Amino acid sequence: MTSPYKEMWERLDLDLEAHDALLDVLGKFYGDIYLSQQGRLRGAEYLDFVLSEVHGLRIKEIQDAKAQGRKVVGTFCVFVPEEITLAADAVQVGLCAGAEAGKELAETMVPRNTCSLIKSFIGFKLARLCPYTESCDLIVGETTCDGKKKAYEPFGELVNMHVMEVPQQKNAADRALWKAEVLRYKEEIEKLTGVTITAERLATAIRTVNDKRRALQRLTALRAASPAPISGRDALLVNQISFYDDPVRFTAKMNELCDELEARVARGEGVAEAGTPRLLLSGCPMAVPNWKLPYIVESSGAVIVGEESCIGTRNSRDLVDESGATLDEMLDAIADRYMKIDCACFTPNTERQENVMDLAKTLNADGVIQYNLLFCQPYANESIRLDKTLAAEGIPSLSIETDYSMEDVQQLKTRVEAFVETLD
Ligand code: SF4
Ligand code: SF4
Repeated sequence: MTSPYKEMWERLDLDLEAHDALLDVLGKFYGDIYLSQQGRLRGAEYLDFVLSEVHGLRIKEIQDAKAQGRKVVGTFCVFVPEEITLAADAVQVGLCAGAEAGKELAETMVPRNTCSLIKSFIGFKLARLCPYTESCDLIVGETTCDGKKKAYEPFGELVNMHVMEVPQQKNAADRALWKAEVLRYKEEIEKLTGVTITAERLATAIRTVNDKRRALQRLTALRAASPAPISGRDALLVNQISFYDDPVRFTAKMNELCDELEARVARGEGVAEAGTPRLLLSGCPMAVPNWKLPYIVESSGAVIVGEESCIGTRNSRDLVDESGATLDEMLDAIADRYMKIDCACFTPNTERQENVMDLAKTLNADGVIQYNLLFCQPYANESIRLDKTLAAEGIPSLSIETDYSMEDVQQLKTRVEAFVETLD
């Protein structure tokens, strides 16, 4: 395959043959799952463009930023404060880990019974497949689960790594620990970039990231309409792209998309007929190109109206308070906002149960599909409790455990179809 980006990929030392094969599969997958949809929005052209250039133009932009002296920071979790990264004029990218690539290589580094997400980010690195990973000057991990925590030890021998310690409870001592971690990250990023983070820089960055979250909140609110104005697949893509596109451009494009959605809602139009069962997805994050379950759900007679996930509302629900005037007030506001994240790593974690129920009600969902990655202890544990909490509120739910392989597609489809039938 000849690509205008071949030289760039060579400079990044990607395995060109394996990378070409990955792009071919990704392109085909995207065509089947996305381009085949009916009644898409004009704004979806942006999504298609970004995805078609995911390893091309965006990587070129990142390389250009590096040539101008900007640093690139990769992350795996919504706990890494993007405000601080941006305030140091660095570029933050979420390192997608949503495909089964380099699995055998990854299993030389972590046990087989490790979740697909972890194996995927290690596999992408070991198989030299990800131009984002290869562009990073620093990769930031966090101690949100044992699988990740232990994986970062060998992974840290391959890349320049900084690990943030995320507390597991939400008491005063935990808040103090987290604030100290936020400060330690600030120091690390200042050292990396040579930029001193001032109150002015941080205030701008807080507004930039909040604006992105406000656009995503707008999208979430519009999805309460019936008929559903946007497919769950496109909405998931929006959330996925929010992790690696330029934040200012992304926000502008999302607001345009929401303008179009508002008009569509006002006309009473949607992507699925009124009366189509509406489902909320809840649980583990779904990184690009993990579209298996949304595709199965939306080809089984239902429409997804929300994602209670880090690639979804968990990442956009809370804003950083913008009223801080000093650097320390702003850092406090950042620490407070991130402590509101209801990741399953926390114990107890009743907030998440409440948030899932609130979201299901606000979005007029008829049911919830709990999505758990195999071997993910935190979410598997919570799913048992969440099932009961939802049942007590009369909200049907279906718990699914899967990984990135395609072997269980038929079996999942049978289960989802049976669940959807019960909602009619
Ligand atoms: S589920 Fe928890 S660990 Fe995973 S990205 Fe979200 S906050 Fe981070
Ligand atoms: S999906 Fe679960 S096991 Fe995997 S990294 Fe996230 S929290 Fe850890």
